[in-house]
Amino acid sequence: MSQGESQQQRSQQCISCGIDVSGTNAARFACPKCGRRIARCAKCRKQSNNYECSDCGFRGP
Ligand SMILES: [Zn+2]
Ligand SMILES: [Zn+2]
Repeated sequence: MSQGESQQQRSQQCISCGIDVSGTNAARFACPKCGRRIARCAKCRKQSNNYECSDCGFRGP
């Protein structure tokens, strides 16, 4: 079973907990360092979970 590395899908996952945030009111923003699209679900936003960019490793609140 191949998961497929193509990121062409519109579904987006929470950077903190990994749930699918498509269709939710998740916060979407670009990584301040590398510009990668990051999404964070409302739950993690509320908990102020830190995120870590999977591309450049930037960490932010
Ligand atoms: Zn989350
Ligand atoms: Zn980044």
